[in-house]
Amino acid sequence: MTDTRDSTRIDDALLEAARSLDAADPLHAHLAAFADAPGVGAYLDGNSLGRPLRDTPEKLAAFVRDDWGTRLIRSWDEQWMALPMELGDRIGSLTLGAAAGQTVVADSTSVLIYKLMRAAATADPTRTELVIEAGNFPTDRFMAEGVAAETGMTVRWIEPDPVLGVRIADVVAVISDKTALVSLSHVDYRSGALADMPGITDAVHQVGALMMWDLCHSAGIIPMQLDAWGVDMAVGCTYKYLNGGPGSPAFAYLRREHQGTLRQPIQGWWSAADIFAMGPEYVPAGDIRQLLSGTPPVTSMVAMQGMLDLIEQASIEAVRAKAVSLTDFAVRAYDELLAPLDVRLLSPRDAELRGGHVTIGHPDFRAVTQRLWADGIIPDFRFPDGIRLGLSPLSTSHVETLTGVLAVRDALESHDR
Ligand SMILES: *Cc1c(COP(=O)(O)O)cnc(C)c1O
Repeated sequence: MTDTRDSTRIDDALLEAARSLDAADPLHAHLAAFADAPGVGAYLDGNSLGRPLRDTPEKLAAFVRDDWGTRLIRSWDEQWMALPMELGDRIGSLTLGAAAGQTVVADSTSVLIYKLMRAAATADPTRTELVIEAGNFPTDRFMAEGVAAETGMTVRWIEPDPVLGVRIADVVAVISDKTALVSLSHVDYRSGALADMPGITDAVHQVGALMMWDLCHSAGIIPMQLDAWGVDMAVGCTYKYLNGGPGSPAFAYLRREHQGTLRQPIQGWWSAADIFAMGPEYVPAGDIRQLLSGTPPVTSMVAMQGMLDLIEQASIEAVRAKAVSLTDFAVRAYDELLAPLDVRLLSPRDAELRGGHVTIGHPDFRAVTQRLWADGIIPDFRFPDGIRLGLSPLSTSHVETLTGVLAVRDALESHDR
């Protein structure tokens, strides 16, 4: 064990480094846009639930008072009918590299995954296989298995390196002219590994299959070019890095050229060509509205709008640069404070291969996390023994990151005794 004087020197040097990184951070002033959380010393779980903005309570109150309370049902015509498409376009242009008319806000990620997977699975009857990753988020795997059971398709599994995530060779090894769809996460929810979206999409297209990306852990922190990279479809959450609040609806991207051919299965009145025709038979809308099903959750679309404004001011490229800086600093703090305590690094070291969180592992982390949460230090525990340090760039500082890592170190040391 390091003696106390050494360890104080390391702590001081890290603190000085964190302060100077914060001083040089062009986005530092945006921290003030987020609501205070009394008693919280470090919030390192913005990758699971983004923080509210300082003005979110007033925006929600105004929504109830004015848009709903005073305009009443007139608000549907005045603004709410178009909101799923308008917000989709904003997410598309600010974060996805998607031209208007291809992104919509609706449902949950799980439901949108089902809609798009089912549509892709039945697009070409000669293709009978769905390709997914064994370590992907449970809902993605469960949906693929459900769609396969419904349609008589076979699921082919990719088993990638747990730290580096899915690479092109892993995909190429399992795809063929039987593949209907490959569905992967852009950023791995466990390791934070960032997949090569253009490279993998290209490889999938070479065998004539469709490519779907789950953007839950990348939307709002990593610039993308869905249009330019030829991505067929994508889904993502708005309550993680888009700060929409618990249960805020998801978004889906469907490339324009597929909007006339793919058919999603939950055909409700909101996806009909003429919503108010109330006619005898279903004719799908020709535009992106075809992905909707029922009445959208308008109340849950209020909070994310403030975060989109903030991303617009900051620019997604600057947000990404800060994500790199925060995660690089977290890895440095890990090396100096946690590696000596036999904590494992479970994320890629190379920032180019990493999203917005850093995952570390130790057998005592379940107990350590409980203790930290009670003390107002809030990282994320992942079964069986991982802690994710989720560093939402607009709401997290380098000093806060260090506070979290120091607290993990202290909790581990006192747990050991
Ligand atoms: C968070 C997350 C989801 C969440 O799905 P919901 O339907 O919103 O609960 C799905 N996929 C991935 C990869 C996630 O990280």
